[in-house]
Amino acid sequence: MLHTFLIKYGEIAIKGKNRHLFEDALIHQIKYALKPLEGEFLITKEQGRIYVEAQTDFDYEETVERLTHVFGIVGICPVVQLTDEGFEKLAQDVIAYLKERYEGQELTFKVHARRARKDYPIESMELNALLGGRILEAFPKMRVDVHKPQLMLNIEIRKQIHIYSEVIPGPGGMPVGTNGKGMLLLSGGIDSPVAGYMIAKRGVKIDATYFHAPPYTSERAKEKVIDLARIVARYTGPIYLNIVNFTDIQLHIYETCPHEELTIIMRRYMMKIAEHFAKETGSLGLITGESIGQVASQTMQSLAATNEVCTLPVYRPLIGFDKQEIIDVSERIGTYETSILPYEDCCTIFVAKHPVTKPNLNIIKRSEQKLGERMKELVKTAIETVETIVVE
Ligand code: ATP
Ligand code: MG
Repeated sequence: MLHTFLIKYGEIAIKGKNRHLFEDALIHQIKYALKPLEGEFLITKEQGRIYVEAQTDFDYEETVERLTHVFGIVGICPVVQLTDEGFEKLAQDVIAYLKERYEGQELTFKVHARRARKDYPIESMELNALLGGRILEAFPKMRVDVHKPQLMLNIEIRKQIHIYSEVIPGPGGMPVGTNGKGMLLLSGGIDSPVAGYMIAKRGVKIDATYFHAPPYTSERAKEKVIDLARIVARYTGPIYLNIVNFTDIQLHIYETCPHEELTIIMRRYMMKIAEHFAKETGSLGLITGESIGQVASQTMQSLAATNEVCTLPVYRPLIGFDKQEIIDVSERIGTYETSILPYEDCCTIFVAKHPVTKPNLNIIKRSEQKLGERMKELVKTAIETVETIVVE
């Protein structure tokens, strides 16, 4: 009986004249999310609503699961569709619908009828009263509460009659593609996939850049980052992932600069290179998983020193999050299990015992000068030899 979903969207409903752009982006993202599933789905937009209708056999659980990954969706309502065969038949169907789902429960309820076609002979208010009466007769334990009902029974009179009462929560946010594009610095850790998720949730399309240092970092560490990108891509759509060979740059810094400055200098080069790709491909900002004070390279002074190399804005959505709060999100979105796999990432190999926590920018810049022309060549090579893959 259930083969249609009414998609509720929140914020995008208030976007005035641009509303259709947001709706179209949402439909696009829904289509993308359902594409790998078996079965045909018809997605339609009518009168400020989006419907997903299965045209063939389909997997209910999997469809719902996929829809819960689409930003912009606030609620997913499984709808029962009935052919209009008069009020008496409708009342019987409504009672059968409630029996199947709520039999024996002591619930307060409200009937909320809407006529999308005004030629239906009974007005909405009257329909509420009539159906409410029939429900009270059939379910003596139920009570009406028009203010805060536990069960909201929606009846929509369209070409067909739609009944729904269940709202499965969606992820909220805005459809990806409605807010430009950003370049995520994606490592194999817990934080950066969460950062990417959070910015994408605001409608931003995500590209990503990963720095690896073979043979100091393994092929499996790279696979892990690709796996993380794949999990994030279930929310964001396909991610163009740049994989940059950072080994020679790191070795050159290691051999030339004071070891307590390694991390800061290395991070400055990561930002510079990521920004190069961002500008080349139309990203409007960089995204990192940094949070104030989490490690030496994320003190206010270190963040300022890292930031200084960029001209694009750097978005750090986790900036005020505690580690546990970040972990909670990563568990919820499904990246945690992969993030904690124990493969080395390139930052852990070249870390000093006592990294600076309050870097002085003048001193850092003086150290960087010693890197000389050779560094320019290494950066150029790193950019030219990038491997870009599409992860979906
Ligand atoms: P994460 O858990 O995301 O790895 P972290 O707590 O380990 O973060 P750092 O290693 O200091 O912190 O990195 C801070 C941020 O810099 C990361 O969140 C990520 O955005 C970026 N970053 C770090 N290492 C890499 C890398 N190898 N490739 C791309 N980006 C990186
Ligand atoms: Mg890391």
